[in-house]
Amino acid sequence: MNASDADLARVVIKRRRALPFFSGHPWVFAGAIQRVEGEPAAGAEVNVSTHEGEFIARGLFNPQSNIRVRLYTWDANQRLDEDFWSGRIKAAIDLRNSLFQGGLEQRGCRMIFSEADGLSGLVVDRYGDHLLLQWTSRALAEREPLFVKMLQEQLQPAGIWRRTEKGMAEAEGLSLTDGLVAGAEPPLPLFVEEHGLQYGVDVVAGQKTGFYFDQRDNRLAAARYLSGRVLDLFCYSGGFGLNALRHGSATQVLGVDSSQPALDFARRNAELNSLADRMRFEQSAAFAKLEQLHEAGEQFDGVILDPPKMARSRGGLERALRGYLSLNRLAVQVLKPGGILVTCSCSGLVSREDFEQVLARVAAETGRKIQILESRGQAADHPVSVQCLENAYLKCLICRVTA
Ligand code: SAH
Repeated sequence: MNASDADLARVVIKRRRALPFFSGHPWVFAGAIQRVEGEPAAGAEVNVSTHEGEFIARGLFNPQSNIRVRLYTWDANQRLDEDFWSGRIKAAIDLRNSLFQGGLEQRGCRMIFSEADGLSGLVVDRYGDHLLLQWTSRALAEREPLFVKMLQEQLQPAGIWRRTEKGMAEAEGLSLTDGLVAGAEPPLPLFVEEHGLQYGVDVVAGQKTGFYFDQRDNRLAAARYLSGRVLDLFCYSGGFGLNALRHGSATQVLGVDSSQPALDFARRNAELNSLADRMRFEQSAAFAKLEQLHEAGEQFDGVILDPPKMARSRGGLERALRGYLSLNRLAVQVLKPGGILVTCSCSGLVSREDFEQVLARVAAETGRKIQILESRGQAADHPVSVQCLENAYLKCLICRVTA
């Protein structure tokens, strides 16, 4: 041990379980730990070592989480102090500035994406002057005042609002609630621009952190292929349909979502972009709507499927795959020969291969041919660390479906 870290407790990894951590994986699950030397408080900085005492990495301890330690540095001389966190925040901001070449005042983006930015447990989205912050690590959340100060120094936001995710109380022992943490409350709506389209966003009551930035490039990519009548299922605030009309050759869009507040935003966004005359919205459950359209013999030139996460745990994987299968089968049945299917899965537990296999079964069961034209992932402001591939969650397949 270095003199500088003599105060830190030590988490000792079981024999033959240390390789992933030497390789840079940031999650030390309880099951990999042999013993804890010392009595680290919840949120404390700890050293992680092999059973032979060799230093592996340094992280933050949470006795209430199955992820017992989140690792942040593999440098024995680096303490997890303000300079360290500030450097990580700066690197994340620099990446977004280079991706978007400025212009972030109008645009929104994900500024910090947890493990991908070396900040496991913190997500920050930017909407113009306002920031939305979300914690998935209790240990990091305990440093909120410090992070707020650093974000204020580096980004000078008008306000910072905290959103919380369901399940974090149980998973991490996090007892935070949604609310203002600094500056002014976010206006309702906040406006963001994406591919020349304007969107009003409700960052306080809207889903997740208000807007699905991860689909930004997929919405534009899909538009290139979409023409004629398009069915945008799980449309939320209307992004895929708006792009299909503005940047593709779609002539009419039917947007369907089960949430009325989402549809109210979608309709206002259509008006804001002078596309309302070509968009219609319906509140309905997607499965029921597809069955109804199929029975009525309706046919579309394009169908977009962007359902919410279907698999939340390994145990739920089979059920999720069955859900994707029936959803995609129904979608194919309302597609004209030669039509375009844009099908997405944001379930990290469903691999790209699993998802492609679902489409293979859809093809077999419907007798239609399905060609994948583009196999896409999440936008670049949601990068994936190769040391934490669990974060590569989004799949967006743009397919042509023939007779
Ligand atoms: N495509 C959107 C994001 C979709 S998020 C975009 O580009 O912004 C998933 C959406 O599915 C949410 O708006 C949610 O309200 C909706 N949803 C969830 N379950 C549904 C169901 N069974 N039927 C229809 N919509 C549903």
